[in-house]
Amino acid sequence: MTDLEAVAGVRDSLDWCYPTGRYYDTAKELLTLETNAAVEGFLAAGANRVVVCDGHGWGGLMPEKLHPRAEWVSGPYPHLVYPEGLGMDRSFDVMAWVGQHAMAGAPGGHLTHTGSFGVLEMTLNGVPIGEMARCAYMGAELGIRSIFLSGDRAGCEEAQALVPGIETVSVKEGLSFYQGLDLTAEDAEKAFTAARHLSPQVARERIRERAERALRRAQEDPAMGRLECPSAPYTLKTVFRRDKAGRPGPVYINTHPDSFIGLLNAKGERQSAEESDEK
Ligand SMILES: [Zn+2]
Repeated sequence: MTDLEAVAGVRDSLDWCYPTGRYYDTAKELLTLETNAAVEGFLAAGANRVVVCDGHGWGGLMPEKLHPRAEWVSGPYPHLVYPEGLGMDRSFDVMAWVGQHAMAGAPGGHLTHTGSFGVLEMTLNGVPIGEMARCAYMGAELGIRSIFLSGDRAGCEEAQALVPGIETVSVKEGLSFYQGLDLTAEDAEKAFTAARHLSPQVARERIRERAERALRRAQEDPAMGRLECPSAPYTLKTVFRRDKAGRPGPVYINTHPDSFIGLLNAKGERQSAEESDEK
């Protein structure tokens, strides 16, 4: 699973991560090269098939520059059907991330958000989750282990907290320690840009080496990267950021009796303002 924000050299969202951005193509090339480094590492460790899912809404990869042994899955954005076009099924053994950022509100994160910059917080059965956990739990439901993640340092810490022992590579470190909980969506996507980056070349060397190590470890240890879904039933709550006038954003609730993937595909019910005030 790839994302564009937490790649070494990608500085901000508006200029780098949108199709209208001045450096969008540069960002896509940087992500593609980091992805290729991970693919090389996995192949060196004996992977017989690598499927790369482009997880950035408008696309974050350059398929013509992608490693020839990798298959490219472009997601069905904007009408996401989980598990996100990855076609994950029980034929996959392990899952990994490249370019993954931390959840909205993570202190010290770079370009933090959850799904979009308009989301203030997402919780699963009351516990905050980010994009990494959302994907890792889908894998968990399908019996796929989470073995490797590269991204910014806060993204790596989030992954390690969720999946102890996961192999990670931090390619940059955010330098904004405010959470920005009061920001509107427009301001949030211009925030959290300060960071210290590794040279993209060094980032790729580390990704290649750690990806190989991750898959070797996973083959030796069947518990490596294994994650349990929280117990059913599931409630996913998505709280949106306030508007320009300071009014709190809407809150959506998805529920499902027994499936996390079913939960993500369930149609969210909008909570009324009165209900959300009570809670
Ligand atoms: Zn993302």
